[in-house]
Amino acid sequence: WKHLPPAIRDVVSIGRMHGDRVFLVNEDERVTFEAFHRAVAAFAKVLADKGVTKGDRVALIMRNLPEWPVAFYGALSLGAIVTPLNAWWTGPELEYGLTDSGSKVAIVDAERFDRLAEHFPNCPDLQHVIVARATEEIAHPYVSRMEDAIGGPNHWITLPDEALPAVDIQPDDDATIFYTSGTTGKPKGALATQRNVNSNIMAAMCVGARSFLRRGEQPPAPDPTLPQKGSLISVPFFHATGCMAVLNPSLLAGAKLAMMRKWEPELAMQIIERERLTSAGGVPTIAWQLIEHPAREKYDLSSLESVAYGGAPSAPELVRKIKEVWPKSQAGNGWGMTETCATATSNGAEDYENRPDSCGPAVPVTDLKIMTVEAPHRELPIGEVGELWCKGPQVVREYWNKPEATAETFIDGWVKTGDLARLDAEGFCYIIDRAKDMLIRGGENIYCIEVENVLYDHPAVMDAALVGIPHKTLGEEPAAVVTLKPGAEATEQELRAFVADRLAAFKVPVKVEFWHETLPRNANGKILKTELKKIFEGA
Ligand code: ATP
Ligand code: MG
Repeated sequence: WKHLPPAIRDVVSIGRMHGDRVFLVNEDERVTFEAFHRAVAAFAKVLADKGVTKGDRVALIMRNLPEWPVAFYGALSLGAIVTPLNAWWTGPELEYGLTDSGSKVAIVDAERFDRLAEHFPNCPDLQHVIVARATEEIAHPYVSRMEDAIGGPNHWITLPDEALPAVDIQPDDDATIFYTSGTTGKPKGALATQRNVNSNIMAAMCVGARSFLRRGEQPPAPDPTLPQKGSLISVPFFHATGCMAVLNPSLLAGAKLAMMRKWEPELAMQIIERERLTSAGGVPTIAWQLIEHPAREKYDLSSLESVAYGGAPSAPELVRKIKEVWPKSQAGNGWGMTETCATATSNGAEDYENRPDSCGPAVPVTDLKIMTVEAPHRELPIGEVGELWCKGPQVVREYWNKPEATAETFIDGWVKTGDLARLDAEGFCYIIDRAKDMLIRGGENIYCIEVENVLYDHPAVMDAALVGIPHKTLGEEPAAVVTLKPGAEATEQELRAFVADRLAAFKVPVKVEFWHETLPRNANGKILKTELKKIFEGA
């Protein structure tokens, strides 16, 4: 092999080494690594029969089901460009994803099929739709059922043993289009190559050892007598984090992956206990919800070795909480974006305990620098806050179909992240805020995260968000929306005083609104601040 491994589909072959160990768990379905390999090979054949060839876009529109990774790797095996779309999108949003990507085939779960059927005629490139989990016959000329071709998850082990297609796939061939979360605008398709995705998988395999190596210590050898590693996948596969940071490395490493139909903290704990899972997390809110859950003590979660998350800001307090609640486990925080195929920095173990406000140094063979926000961009010295730029083998080449956004964002292999950050002398990165998530109150900068972190430190606060509300002379003023922990009490006055004791007066929220459920978030755990701002409108 010129490059190891040259194509993402090889990860399926390497994963096959784990044979009859369980790979995917979904309710009462259990798929072994061997069965998974067979299903991927069989499904690649189905797609080839539908005319899918190298470079064709194949859309995935499914919640987390075992069929998702089968379709993902099946299409990649043919050199197709897999285009996962957000399964929570509405019909018109999915139509945008299908037409923007020019997908030739869509693989859709039955729930989504009903929502989408009326939109298919508006997608000129779409030639075939494959429905997973359809319970009835479907009478559409270009629609077929996945089960008719390869059966359901519990039967994949009985499929014939066939090789994956022998398509010539090179490292710089296009592989995936993942859409950004759309937090700051319309979602953009980030076009990643085989090299981008593979680099990410390989970096994920190395970062665990780094904390030891940094201290000049030997990382502990894996103990073959220990049970299989296993993760709870609580974030969707269709975002870069779920696929690139959890699914792909699990397949390569032979780890079990337990899915959930819908995020529900108590169900999560039941699954962790039943499957003896060693890792959980995803986004910071999930870790908090497990920690704060009133029924937590009812479950044996002692198998957890790691609680790792990323994708959204996390309060420094979270690391201490994790060590307190699960002393045997390590906390981890990774920063990344769809444009970096998920994880591009990673902080873990002791490094994270010592620097609880950092998302860690860059993953191997990746560079970070801090640049002035305003053009002409110039690099800022260590310790200064500016825009984070990132360069490495995982940084995608372009936005699909968006030459202007590409030219603005990708410069000489660097991606301008839109995040404000600083670096310390050892290369640890501290995310301050999104450049767009900062308010300016009468000329004073207020980073939302800083105020949110103080609110999180208050013992009664479960969830907090700071938003800017318009002010005639100051431009904007900070206001907070807060959810309290079950049974806890705090008044607006008390919370404002708590912030005032810790931060400069101009940063203290002028209003605090209480929200009675968890704050509205998108599928990736990011708070929908535009929704929250509406509370203060006309107030
Ligand atoms: P869009 O680009 O469409 O506006 P988005 O930026 O939310 O949406 P993603 O690519 O899913 O889409 O998210 C990347 C962003 O998530 C980063 O730019 C950063 O703002 C935030 N993020 C990721 N990891 C962390 C982390 N560990 N700490 C703080 N913020 C993080
Ligand atoms: Mg973004």
